[in-house]
Amino acid sequence: MKYILLSLFFLLAPTLYAQWTVESVPNQKLVNGSYVSNPDGILTEATTANLDALLKSLEDSTTVQVAVVAVNSIGGVDIFSFSQDLFTHWGVGQKTNDNGLLILLVEDTHTIRFHTGYGLEGVLTDARCKRIQQEYMVPLFKEGDYNGGMLAGIEAVVKVINDPAYADELEAEETNNAVGDYAGAVAFLCFFVLPVLLVSFVIKLVNKSFSNSKNPSHTDYPEMRVTKLAWVAEFLLAPALIVALIGVSGTDQPFIIAMLGLYLYFLITLLHRQWRMKRVMRRLVKDGDYHGVVGFLRSNQVYWFFMGLIFPLPFLPYFFYHLVRKRRYRNHPRTCAGCQGNMIKLDEKADDAYLSKAQLIEENIRSVDYDVWQCTACQNTEAWNYPNRSSRYKNCSYCGSQTSYLISRKTLRAATYSSSGQGEEIYGCVHCGKRKRSTYSIARLERSSSSSSSSGGSSSSSSGGSWGGGSSGGGGASSSW
Ligand SMILES: [Zn+2]
Ligand SMILES: [Zn+2]
Repeated sequence: MKYILLSLFFLLAPTLYAQWTVESVPNQKLVNGSYVSNPDGILTEATTANLDALLKSLEDSTTVQVAVVAVNSIGGVDIFSFSQDLFTHWGVGQKTNDNGLLILLVEDTHTIRFHTGYGLEGVLTDARCKRIQQEYMVPLFKEGDYNGGMLAGIEAVVKVINDPAYADELEAEETNNAVGDYAGAVAFLCFFVLPVLLVSFVIKLVNKSFSNSKNPSHTDYPEMRVTKLAWVAEFLLAPALIVALIGVSGTDQPFIIAMLGLYLYFLITLLHRQWRMKRVMRRLVKDGDYHGVVGFLRSNQVYWFFMGLIFPLPFLPYFFYHLVRKRRYRNHPRTCAGCQGNMIKLDEKADDAYLSKAQLIEENIRSVDYDVWQCTACQNTEAWNYPNRSSRYKNCSYCGSQTSYLISRKTLRAATYSSSGQGEEIYGCVHCGKRKRSTYSIARLERSSSSSSSSGGSSSSSSGGSWGGGSSGGGGASSSW
């Protein structure tokens, strides 16, 4: 018997605890001209009377209409859609200038929402709405003081609408948000840009590719290298200084300006790179090493392609200039190493007679392109190779030609969540015919998670009640506690 009564209670409880709909919320303006709809008695009569007096004089002096609704529950409906629909249903604000504001408090979800009409969005910006909620309402709501919170918040709203100077005061507080934006910018840089820079520093350190590394690794282009200190200054200290300067400048758009400043700065570092490239080019040209020049330009091609994409001005045109220049040096007149006579480049057909079997195979499978130059005086020939880096043929470890390709790949042991796996690759050479077997490891599996969210709002149009027939574009703000 006790349990039957208990379950009856739980079955009936939701109906005792009213869930209001847009249609069922009492429109007090129609009933007794009140601005406040308080069907669950969340606010006291004294508060309601206070608010009515305040909002009546506001409407008399400015024609702005503010509807206040305080309910226990809207039954899990999204507060934005509920506000939008109720706003439209009642038509809060004057129809001519849409100067309405709906203030909705939902007790069970602990949420307050300001929903503004089009005409009020300029004065009551979303940021100001949020500010008023956070400053005047939420702290009191947290203590259960709905009367105090509503009065304080609505008084602030009335002040903003009546007094532009007060709005400016709030504005001054809004610029404090810029400090938050700035912190966001710094956090973004620390989490995304800084790791990339640090990783490239470590890679250079490990590869010993700074000009002052101990036992520096071999390079054909030592001019490209900088000292450790110069690198740190150029890629870490200078960007940090730029971000710090933007911070102290007190701009109200620190994030955008920091991004722009760094973009321009990194663009300038590319000019430094070009200056270093120029020194390499000058040395190679001076030595008459045009093959070396082409090799150097080829090794930089992918880099400048991406820089052309990231910094289209000026580096996209530069990328095309890069291609033209590469072709020019490849065909640049050269002199015979033996007799200093002039050489001419043989065409693709004529040069075959001077290439080895391996070189002919490489040309056929397009893994290496050869230019053959012949001396007009002594008939001596020189063959210059231009390896295709993106070819699927790799260098054969037996004959050395770029004629080795992947025949098969199979998994020997699959990777699991607890251990890495192993695979096997077999390479064959189209020149010497030898095969090579090698193993590779497969990374351990990682669990991934995904989440999705959705949001939406809709509005329908109908008017009614003795509100002025204003409409809302969905401006405003909500806060929870
Ligand atoms: Zn010669
Ligand atoms: Zn081979």
